[in-house]
Amino acid sequence: MKIAVFSTKPYDRQFLDAANRDGRHRLVWFEARLSLETAPLAAGAGVVCAFVNDQLDRPVLELLAELGVRLIALRSAGFNNVDMSAAASLGLSVCRVPAYSPQAVAEHTLALILCLDRKIHRAYNRVREGNFALEGLLGFDLAGKTVGIVGTGKIGEAVARILGGFGCRLLAHDVAENPACLALGARYVPRDELFANADVVTLHCPLTPDTYHCVDSALLGRAKRGLMLVNTSRGAVIDTRAVIRALKDGTLGSLALDVYEEEADLFFENLSDQVIRDDVFARLLTFPNVLITGHQAFFTVEALTEIAQTTMANITAFEETGHPMHAVPSSRGVPPAG
Ligand code: NAD
Repeated sequence: MKIAVFSTKPYDRQFLDAANRDGRHRLVWFEARLSLETAPLAAGAGVVCAFVNDQLDRPVLELLAELGVRLIALRSAGFNNVDMSAAASLGLSVCRVPAYSPQAVAEHTLALILCLDRKIHRAYNRVREGNFALEGLLGFDLAGKTVGIVGTGKIGEAVARILGGFGCRLLAHDVAENPACLALGARYVPRDELFANADVVTLHCPLTPDTYHCVDSALLGRAKRGLMLVNTSRGAVIDTRAVIRALKDGTLGSLALDVYEEEADLFFENLSDQVIRDDVFARLLTFPNVLITGHQAFFTVEALTEIAQTTMANITAFEETGHPMHAVPSSRGVPPAG
């Protein structure tokens, strides 16, 4: 199969080439993000391989279908960037990598929690400048704290397991209870109750119409004062402007983000010599109690290996049987408005 690979970085190439070492598929690399402007690059390819910030709305899918593309192979678990009803009506198959390394994201989540709690990001800079004062670096013990996990699927469960080891009390919220989390002692409660009682809330649910901006002013208004909020799921699960208001009035004690609702214009690129035009993002960067990483929670050797191998296996299965190994059901993942 000829595969047009969009949003390609050197590390994608390295791991996908390794997974295709038998040369079965012909990979054509494009650094550009997939959009209406770049979609014509896929001419002649049966498969488009895309990542989290590639645009897969109806106009782009229509153009890809016209060009002869038959499969969209996502190198991600989330598929909120794909208009699944458009794909179904155009006869395009969509597949994903349902689980590559839940541990990678769970461990990054813990890195964010510990760094933010113990102010490692600030301490690192201070010590380099010969400032060994401790004022402003006061943290709290995680042991004995109540942590709320929203979304207890593969990643949420891995987070619950690690936090259980830290001696945290676990609250959980999901549309379905996970027996493994119950066995770890997690108590399932409604979203409001979780926010009202947790010292730390970590988000691991997918972006769906139900979760779009579900962390809004109303929910934050009912949260325990001083809450630490962590989001490694998808940016638009939280209403960023509401979160900024909550940081300003002290409702929110601290915030760690690996994802941001407008990240497509920022993340995965080196913009260090450019002016950031996104004022909301720029405001977030001014808070001492906000820690941001640029969608790197998945970024481990193990995860990239699994992503590349599963992507190739999806495409090979599609070539042989007409069905990828991990199809995204067309009834799920309809993107929310906005
Ligand atoms: P998963 O499908 O195993 O788990 C998701 C869980 O969320 C499920 O238990 C599901 O029932 C639950 N859920 C669905 N709707 C919900 C709602 N309205 N309220 C509460 N819970 C709800 O997925 P996963 O592998 O654990 O991944 C979770 C999310 O993490 C993905 O959807 C993706 O957006 C994000 N992710 C981020 C990165 C990163 O690098 N930052 C990497 C991988 C995945």
